[in-house]
Amino acid sequence: MSQPFTRLQAALTRSGIQKPDGPFDDEQMRITCPACGTEQTLGQTPVHADGNETYYRCKNGCQNLVIVVNCGLPPSQTPSGGQGYFLARGPVIIKNGADLIIPVGVNAVKFPPTNEFPR
Ligand SMILES: [Zn+2]
Repeated sequence: MSQPFTRLQAALTRSGIQKPDGPFDDEQMRITCPACGTEQTLGQTPVHADGNETYYRCKNGCQNLVIVVNCGLPPSQTPSGGQGYFLARGPVIIKNGADLIIPVGVNAVKFPPTNEFPR
């Protein structure tokens, strides 16, 4: 039986972070694949789950772009290793292999790439 996905839009919504211009939407979050240089939204990338981790992969198949770890462990103890952005309410850890852009109103929040990102 396959594991349920934890999409980034759901993780951010669950975190309690306030966004004034509507709900978080994977279709609006952008990342550029470091391998092929293609900018894509997280609504365009194939998603699969492995254990408690949800992987967003480049739509051209190059590599993982974002991983959402659905667990209560600190980043150093997660199966995929390395560091990430920890959201206490969830809890989840967000890892990304390139700048992750999340539009908020007329601005955007940029998450720089996390260390030791598994491709
Ligand atoms: Zn690519």
